Amino acid sequence: MSQESSAVINHVVPVALYEQHRTIHVRSVQGTFASWRWAMVWLTQAVFYGLCWLPWNGRQAVLFDIVERKFYLFGLVLWPQDVLYLAVLLIVAAYSLFLFTAVGGRLFCGYACPQTVYTEIMMWIEARIEGERNARIKLDKQPMNAAKFGKKLAKHAAWIVVALWTGFTFAGYFTPVGTLGRDLLDFKLGPWQTFWIFFYAFATYGMAGFMREQVCKYMCPYARFQSVMFDADTLIVTYDAARGEPRGSRSRKQQRPASGKGDCVDCDICVQVCPTGIDIRNGLQYECIGCSACIDGCNEVMDKVGNPRGLIRYSTENAMQRQWSGADILRHVFRPRIMVYTAILVAICAAAAWSIAVRLPLKVDVIRDRAALAREVENEQIENVYTLRLMNTDEQPHQYLVSVAGIDGLLLAADARVSVDAASMKSVSIPLRAGADAAGKGSHPIYFDIADIDAANVKLREKTVFIMP
Ligand code: SF4
Ligand code: SF4
Repeated sequence: MSQESSAVINHVVPVALYEQHRTIHVRSVQGTFASWRWAMVWLTQAVFYGLCWLPWNGRQAVLFDIVERKFYLFGLVLWPQDVLYLAVLLIVAAYSLFLFTAVGGRLFCGYACPQTVYTEIMMWIEARIEGERNARIKLDKQPMNAAKFGKKLAKHAAWIVVALWTGFTFAGYFTPVGTLGRDLLDFKLGPWQTFWIFFYAFATYGMAGFMREQVCKYMCPYARFQSVMFDADTLIVTYDAARGEPRGSRSRKQQRPASGKGDCVDCDICVQVCPTGIDIRNGLQYECIGCSACIDGCNEVMDKVGNPRGLIRYSTENAMQRQWSGADILRHVFRPRIMVYTAILVAICAAAAWSIAVRLPLKVDVIRDRAALAREVENEQIENVYTLRLMNTDEQPHQYLVSVAGIDGLLLAADARVSVDAASMKSVSIPLRAGADAAGKGSHPIYFDIADIDAANVKLREKTVFIMP
């Protein structure tokens, strides 16, 4: 080995493959955007925790009944055959995300994502029990003692209560929540209910209590591709480097030109309030969830040092480069891309609303008896047997009249009236008979007409075939 290569080997420095985790002690912040974030916490959690307790027509207003395979959404009862509406719902959610992201960046991440909302709740509990940022840093550095143990125990107990209630609520959207509560109190929960309550609780406790920003940075796929939805007119949380630099502390009496410094006093508050621990002064980073805590933090500092607010603010790439006013920024919100997204979203929503409004509360499946295609019965008649599966999606019982058409003299050899209970399905066997000479050999198209006896507009025609041997 040459002298040079051994020198190189001696200078090899081990590099860790993974970044070492550092605990982020987030500083609490107050301000306009913090108020908006808390308003969203209250709104989303009032809906999530409250909606499963809302009664409707003697049942739960929103229930995804997996066992019965029925989804209840207020007055709407969706069956597995209505899976199209679920697909439409997902498309609307995806398009809304595209639209809001193109307009205002990661608005969903910053204000409404469950990870953000539950982290906010867990951090609030932590601050109430362990104290503010400096007190928490001090507490974490202390060796374990009775006071520290008590605080940690209280914090984790509170987190677990929130997590378990969240898990119970989640399961309450899939099993009637009243029954679930009674089963829980009687220790009679089924295995799946137990699994989902504890799994969801564990996920809430782990992700919002411990993993926090790591979920956004390493686990969430949206963080990775959100930048493709941005353009130069997308509103993002931005540090105004032209105004802030060169950063550095200066006396309150010194005006900007005299001090030779920019408006940033390098106080680090924007980093301390950031839930992902980044420095927004380094420019747009994928770790930024757009929560605006740094805007509120910096505005507080600007107020204290007597500078105008908005050193960190919502702005766009174009606005920063071209010194646009607020009106200019607003004008560019209504750009062609946004108009196209909006038009598509409105069209999908309108089509879905129209489809739900004209949707018949009746579905019918006609299934031919495969065992005996056709057989000869009395009076030289040919009989084919069908199973009619009638689904009454209304929440009232209904009576239907069944008739057939397609071959001369084709008759039902069964009761033509079928009653179906509210939001139920009923299968009936319907034999059809026709004279042996009513049609030639082979298969002939015929039609079942099913009409609601009480509602003239509820009628359906289903096509099938009649076999002549
Ligand atoms: S909070 Fe504002 S003034 Fe303080 S370091 Fe951040 S950008 Fe500079
Ligand atoms: S830099 Fe941090 S505090 Fe500022 S918006 Fe992004 S995630 Fe929030």
